[in-house]
This record gives sequence, C-alpha cells and structure tokens, in this order.
Amino acid sequence: MKIWIDGRIVGPEEAHIPVTDHGLLYGDGVFEGIRVYGGKVFRLDRHLARLQFSASAIGLAIPGGIDRVRAVVHETAAAFGSHESYIRLLLTRGDGTIGVDPTRCPEPRLICICCDAELYDPEHLAQGLTLVTSSLRRPALDALDPRVKSLNYLNSVMAKREAKLRGADEGLLLNAAGLVAEATVANIFIHRKGALRTPPTCDGALEGITRETVIELAGGLGIPAHEQSLSRMDLLSADEIFLTGTGARIVPVRSFDSQDIGTEVPGPVTSKLMAAFDELVERI
Ligand code: PMP
Repeated sequence: MKIWIDGRIVGPEEAHIPVTDHGLLYGDGVFEGIRVYGGKVFRLDRHLARLQFSASAIGLAIPGGIDRVRAVVHETAAAFGSHESYIRLLLTRGDGTIGVDPTRCPEPRLICICCDAELYDPEHLAQGLTLVTSSLRRPALDALDPRVKSLNYLNSVMAKREAKLRGADEGLLLNAAGLVAEATVANIFIHRKGALRTPPTCDGALEGITRETVIELAGGLGIPAHEQSLSRMDLLSADEIFLTGTGARIVPVRSFDSQDIGTEVPGPVTSKLMAAFDELVERI
C-alpha cells in the first residue's frame, strides 16, 4: 500500500492524520473509489468530476485544483506500481477545533491511498448475493443528498450491519417515499420484459460510474436500458437483478427478501454485461 498524504508518498505505518481532522471528528469530507486496470486509471475524469461535485456541494475547496488531484492519483498509482489496484481518494475538511464549524478548518486535507484490488471473494460474488430490504431509508435530498459521496457513511454502515445480522449479504435502501434507492455501496439494476431498469439518482442513489458504464455497454449490446422509479414489487417480479460498483463491477443477486430471482445466476443478460465489462477493462 502507498499513501499520498500532506505532500509525501509513504507506507501505511507512516501515514497519520491528527485527531482534530474534521473528517474523523464529523465525517466532514468527500471521497472517491477508483480502479486501475492494466496500469491505467479507469474513468479518472468521471471520478474527478464527481469529486468536484461532492466537494462543491459541501463548500470544500480542492487544494491546488482538480489537475493537482489528477497528478496525485497518477503519482500514487505509479509509486504502488501494480497494474491492477484500487485507489481511495479522500478530501477532508482538515484540521480544526472541536466543534462542527467548518470555517475553523483553514486547509482541506487530500489523501490518496493505492492498494491491492482484491476487495471481494470472486467465487462468492459469482454465486450471487442475497439482498434484503433494509429498515433504514436513504436520507432525503434535503437532509443529506445521497448524490454527494461524503465521508458520512453511517446510513450505509447500519444497513450493511442489519443485512448481515439477518443472514443476508446486502441491504436494499428505499427512500422516504418507499421507492428503491440503491444497495449500501452499489447501484441496482433489474432486467424485466426485455429491458434494464435502474432508479433515477434523484430517488436517492449515487451517480455511480459503473452504473453509467453499464448503461453505455447495454446500448452497445442492443439491450434497452431505462431510468425508472422502482418499487419492491418491481424487484420481486424481476427476471434478473444485479448491483454495480467500482470494487466488484457487476454482482448478480440470487435472492431478494428470501425470494429467488430468475432461474439461473448470473442470468443471461447479467452474464453478457459482465463479459462486456471484462472486455472493456482489458482494452482501456
Ligand atoms: N452507491 C454508493 C452509496 C456507493 O458508495 C457506491 C460506490 N462508490 C456506488 C453506489 C457505486 O458507484 P461507482 O460505480 O461509481 O463505484
């Protein structure tokens, strides 16, 4: 693992933040999770645009601007040296006094971690996940807009914890209106009546870069894909369900609220998209 912090690239034993960083004290900050495939950073411009969106949304200036962040990402990935890696980019409010007031934090802190990409057990993922509806709801857009990728992940942490306690792999979060938002750290798609459907992000989901990539790949494969508000009933009557995210890309869902989904896992459309994604990352 290599970490860029406070202008230096160091190993994990040397990477420290002061306990007065508001990222730690209040979850005050934003982040990105990015992959490196074949030595190339996947869709870096999209990740930087989302970081900029998240930072602006919480009134956080990017020290040195987005081009400096781009250089830091490349530098850290080069120092780690692996052709297949994972990058965690963090921008915190920086050091301040105790108390939420962000105006008392003079300088945001940029951190870039580059490490091995083996985040999940591939065999387990290929079998499909069990997904259950969480009792927690995604916060409303006027509470904490889920399109902002903030360091405040307690809503997801609690939903994941609840899913695990109930013996499932993943939790599905609905919004306050009862519409499907997303899984704890992944977007959701269903396939039904010949088309892919995914909730619009204003229903309470992050603007996932894997989600966007899957919509593009579906277009190339001639599979219709629509943004559409979904209810639990849409999921229960789906032919296929899968989740998308940077870490695991496309992950089939085997059951939803204890009901089996489809007849094979991964289903035929999910398999096609998984193969197309594999091919895409081979040729970036
Ligand atoms: N939703 C949430 C809440 C997430 O944390 C993530 C992971 N970044 C996603 C969706 C998937 O987004 P992406 O495809 O950009 O990784």
